[in-house]
Formats: sequence, C-alpha cells, structure tokens
Amino acid sequence: MHSIPFNKPYLSGKELTYIQEAVTNGKLSGNGEFTRRCHAFFEQQYGIRKALLTTSGTAALEMAALLLNLQPGDEVIVPSFTFTSTANAFVLRGARIVFADSSPDHPNLDVRQLASLITPRTRAIVPVHYAGVACDMNPILELAEKHNLAVVEDAAQAVDSFYGTKPLGTLGHLAAFSFHETKNIIAGEGGMLAINDERYVARAEILWEKGTNRAAFFRGEAAKYQWMDIGSSFLPSELNAAYLWAQLEQLTAIMRQRQRQWSYYYEALAPLAAAGFFRLPVVPAYAQHNWHIFYLLCRSPAERTALIHHLAAHQILAVFHYQPLHASPFYHPHHDGRALPHAARYAQHLVRLPLFFELSADDQHRIIRAIQLFYQAT
Ligand SMILES: *Cc1c(COP(=O)(O)O)cnc(C)c1O
Repeated sequence: MHSIPFNKPYLSGKELTYIQEAVTNGKLSGNGEFTRRCHAFFEQQYGIRKALLTTSGTAALEMAALLLNLQPGDEVIVPSFTFTSTANAFVLRGARIVFADSSPDHPNLDVRQLASLITPRTRAIVPVHYAGVACDMNPILELAEKHNLAVVEDAAQAVDSFYGTKPLGTLGHLAAFSFHETKNIIAGEGGMLAINDERYVARAEILWEKGTNRAAFFRGEAAKYQWMDIGSSFLPSELNAAYLWAQLEQLTAIMRQRQRQWSYYYEALAPLAAAGFFRLPVVPAYAQHNWHIFYLLCRSPAERTALIHHLAAHQILAVFHYQPLHASPFYHPHHDGRALPHAARYAQHLVRLPLFFELSADDQHRIIRAIQLFYQAT
C-alpha cells in the first residue's frame, strides 16, 4: 500500500520549456517577459488595477505594510487564526497587532466584533480569506471607509475566489497573493501584490525595485535611473515567473480538478457529519471559493489527534493548521489578554485532508474509507 502525501506540487508539464525559454532569452533577473505576462494575466482576468509579482506572499504583505507608512504604535487588526506573515509584515514596521477572533461558523474573522477593536490608533484591517473562502467584505469595507482605514486582503490562498461576483484581491486597497508550493497555483516560492488604489501604484513600483525608478526608466518614462525612496528587492527572478506562467495557463483545469476532489470529500463525508461525528466546512452564500483546503472540525482535540494517528497508520498524511497567533510564544506577552475562543477552537479541532491535483479518486476513496472505519470504531 503506497502512502498518500498531504500535498504534491502541481506540474503542468510546460514549466521546464518556459524556464528554458527564459534562459535562452538571456534575461534571468526580474521584470522580464514572463513577469509581464503574469501581470497582464491577473490585471485582465480579475481587474486588478496593478499587479506586481513578489518573491513570496510574505514579501507582498511586507510591501503593503511599507506602502501604508505605518508608524510605531499604529494598530493593525489581524485575525489570530492565520499564518505568521499576516501579522509579522506589520510588526516589522513597529505596528501593534490587535487580534480578531474567528467566526463561530468558519475560521474567517468575525466581522460583528470588528467595530469594537477599532481605536484612534487603528490604521488598517487585514482580512484573511482562509481556504480561499471570502471574508464578508462589505461590512469590513464600510467600517474601513467610516474610520479612514486601509484594507489589506491576505489573499494568499485566494487566487480565483470571489466575494459575490468580485474577485478576491480586488476589494481591498492592497492585497497579497502567494504562489508557495502548497497553494493552488505555484512558483516554488512566489507571491504578488495587487494594488487597487491608484494612490499607491507609482510608489509600489519604486519600493519593488530597491527604491529606484528602474521600472519607469525602462519604459522610457524617466530620463535617469535613480534612488527615489526606501525599498527592497521584492521582485522574483524570471525563472520563477516562467514557472508561474506555465501554471496560469492551466488555471481553469486546476480549479475544475480541485472542485471535483473537494466535492467528492464533501458528499462522501456528509452522512458522518449528519450523524454528528464532525463538522464539514461552511462556505457562506456570498463566497465562491477555489477549493484550496478541505477540512473537518473534530468533536474534541483528543479525537482529532486520534484521527490523525489512525490515518497515519493507514499511510495517509492529514495535518492540523494554525496555532492562534495571540497565544504564540512571540506575541502572547503583547496581546491585550482577550480570550479568542473561536480561533482557539479551530486550532484545536481542525484537520486538513490531502488535496492536490494528482490525488486520484482511488486514493480519495481510501482516505474516506479510513475515516469511516475510525468513526465506526468510536
Ligand atoms: C501561504 C500564506 C502566507 C505566506 O505566503 P508565502 O508565499 O509562503 O510567503 C501568508 N498568509 C496566508 C494566509 C498564507 O496561507
């Protein structure tokens, strides 16, 4: 019996051809032909005002934090149930993180609590679209508008997901995507900053290119190539952009396959959920998701551990997710002490099942059978 991994990076088959092309073109540094193709794809397909590829989703979040000109002591509202980078990008700028709890129904932040977290020092809200499922953006955007706050979407998991008919990553002033090998569309390591507010566009391009006007200079828009502002090396090599381009060409096929797999889990496991053994993912009516993660919510932490061990004994790798950031060794001393019960509950009860393009229907059947066996025995 072969073992079933949790994830396997998707390969369209064209990646090496395009990397070879980039090598033959003799342009390996960033902002070349493949980078331009990727930018154009996102701008045209989703209506992103300006797309800039970055070396990671983390780097895109760091660019967003730089663009907001945060000062030490400024506050940024971030969900506790997320990856470290969502908060770290702002902590690097000296900001204080005010953690939001998750919703009772799903891991995204609870918008009903948001207003109570806003103070005169609040500068930004960072909604994270967990599993590619949209946060309820209208109330978030209304609050932001009312209090003059920036909205930075952490859309790391949310390529090709929608809020109603609006693509995620186009709703906030800024948004960060990730192409890490664990995401739906990958470049090994990679990411993208989406700039939807015109006010940030020119400066974003300068921060991206080590604080220079290099991008404008190469377009013939500037006479000299100079140091204009702070910045860093945020742009990826053409080798990564070439890899990403091969994936973007297959985006529709990737999403269709994941939808099939996600739905198979959902339907096959529904009877056990109806019997009360666990809860299935909740996708609100306003969210059209990208089938990024399939998870179960177990009845207790102990049962989750037992299920993960049971699956491991069947050579199936299932994993839990985020430990809540408000209780982390690093940030706990700075947290204001509020209990965030829902974030803590997802951290302790959620288990993710294998979901990747090459996962066969037979293997999925094996996973589902193993879960059924586990609950028959309880
Ligand atoms: C993956 C991820 C990131 C970080 O992206 P990298 O490309 O790995 O730097 C940030 N936030 C969330 C919610 C993520 O899932």
